[in-house]
Parts: sequence; structure tokens; C-alpha cells
Amino acid sequence: MGSRFELTAVSPDEKKAVSAINAGITEIKRIEKLISSWDPRSQSSEITRNAGIKPVVVDQELFNLIRRSIKISKLTHGAFDISYASLDKVWRFDGEMKNLPDSSEIAASVAKINYRNIILNPEKRSVLLKDKGMKIGFGAIGKGYAANKALDIMSKMGLDGALVNASGDLISWGKDEGGKNWKIGIVNPKQKGKVFSWLSINETAVVTSGNYEKFVIINGKKYSHIIDPRTGYPVRGLSSVSIICANAELADALATSVFVLGKDKGLELINHLKGIECLLVTDEQDLFTSDNLHLDYIKKPIANYKYQIGKKHAQKE
Ligand code: ADP
Ligand code: MG
Repeated sequence: MGSRFELTAVSPDEKKAVSAINAGITEIKRIEKLISSWDPRSQSSEITRNAGIKPVVVDQELFNLIRRSIKISKLTHGAFDISYASLDKVWRFDGEMKNLPDSSEIAASVAKINYRNIILNPEKRSVLLKDKGMKIGFGAIGKGYAANKALDIMSKMGLDGALVNASGDLISWGKDEGGKNWKIGIVNPKQKGKVFSWLSINETAVVTSGNYEKFVIINGKKYSHIIDPRTGYPVRGLSSVSIICANAELADALATSVFVLGKDKGLELINHLKGIECLLVTDEQDLFTSDNLHLDYIKKPIANYKYQIGKKHAQKE
């Protein structure tokens, strides 16, 4: 999935912990095979190859993931859309792009983006992309899905606790190595590296989307990898969005969605959803939270808490 996964298993029995971690890794690899856009043998690639040609019969698992992705598109009025991927070749965030893409090229790709043109047939378990040139990609939901599934398997292996961190997308189960609830620190963006609050995240996912990892700078302007499907251009305004809820897949998809919707519409959406909270940092480095997110502020900020919101990789104390 092009990102680093970190798996943690808590158990007095080392063998148990190691085999749980191995089971988690196997599961992540299995999912990658199914949904990867880079692997031409994946079912997802087969769907894209047959765009505008014919429906492709897929595993129930992939079918369901696509169905849930479309649900999120409906919920966000298209801010989240797995068919954003027709722009994959237009914007490249690998540092090779030196000029802005042609606006006509962008317009041609935007015309292919439309989750309503992903046609599902539940009886046949088939997926059809209606238009030629349409493409799907799970970059904004796949990591969360894989984290959910890996943790689910690990949690059934007799551990005391487990945590999966998919490059800043965290989900935990059970207790940490001290027998306590898992906690992650929240860093004040204005005081880099210092935790000013924390969240107890027992059996909860905390997923962060940021614009500080994958981006290109063209003519001194920063363009990051989350794209507004309506315009075909990278979104601006927010530098990080964290979603807190029970399900890492949903959190992953919603983090991307809030990025696209922006601060006001994003907060409005999250405030309407029960059991889902959000914390965001604007480009001006101001911090906002959804109405029901209550942070425990620490009087004296501490440095280097083990897991930090906004950190792509867990940081050891
Ligand atoms: P992060 O990698 O920071 O966790 P996200 O979960 O937000 O980021 O996923 C970003 C990826 O999602 C992009 O690299 C791209 O593959 C894909 N993507 C970009 N824009 C959209 C969008 N509007 N809807 C769905 N997927 C998107
Ligand atoms: Mg996401």
C-alpha cells in the first residue's frame, strides 16, 4: 500500500505475540493483493482495465468495500470518491512533476470521476465502471480497512492488547504494555513535538490525513495528494485532519472527506455523525475540534509521547 505499517502485540508470552504479529502482516499482504492499483493482477486493476467494456465479477470482500466507499461518497456529496483515480497519472506526487498539469487534461479526467457511474450488481457480485477511462483507487480507505482487519485477527489470538499503526492510522484493542488503556498524545502544531493533551483510544481508531508527506512544490506553491473530485485540483486550507471513531476504515475515508470539505463543512458533517469526532489543524496552524471531543489538557506540555496525532510514524519515548 506504499506505506509503513507498525504492529504491536501485548502478551507475557513472546511466542503468542510474534505469531499474532505475523498473522496481522499476512492479512495486510492479502488485502494489498486484492485492492492494489499498482499490481496489474489485483481484482481492482481488472475492474479498471474493463472500464467502459464489461462488468467484472469480484470477491464479496472487494464488492462490499466498493459498496461502502460509494456510501461515503453519498454521505459527503462526492467529496470522497474512489473514482478520483482517473487523475492518478495527471498529478504525481513522487517529486518528478515540475509543471502544473494542463487544465484541459485535468478537465478531461474530472469528467471521468463520478461514483454514480460505478455500477454494482449484487446478484452477480460484479462491478462495472460505466465510462472508458474511469479508474478506481483505494488510497483513502484501504489502509484503514487493512488496519481493521489485521487488528481483528490479532485480537482473537489470546493477547492482552494490540495496536496497528498504518502510517498514522491507528487502531487499538485491549490494554497497552502497562495494562492501561491505550493513549495517544496530541501535539500542539505551534509547539512542535510537545504533547498538550491526550486521548484515551481504547478500542478506537484515530486516523490522520496530512498534507505534509505526499506533495509537490511547483512555482513555490505546495500541492498535496488529496484532490477535490469536483475541480481536479489538490485541496487547500487544512494541514491535518484526525478522525476518532470505532472503525479505522470509516475514519480513514472521513479524514480524506473532511480534508476536501474544508474546516466549516467538515466540522458540520462530523458534528452530525454520532460516535465520530474530529480534530483538525488549518494551514494557519490553528486547531479545531468537533463539539463532543473533550481533550484532557495537560498543564505542562510533555515531550515525545509514544503515539502522536499528526505523526506518520509512531515515535518511541
Ligand atoms: P494519508 O495518506 O495522508 O493517510 P488519505 O487517507 O487522505 O491520506 O489518502 C490520500 C490518498 O487518497 C491519495 O494519495 C489518493 O490516492 C486518494 N485520494 C485523493 N483524493 C481523494 C478523494 N477525493 N477521494 C478518494 N480518494 C482520494
Ligand atoms: Mg483517508
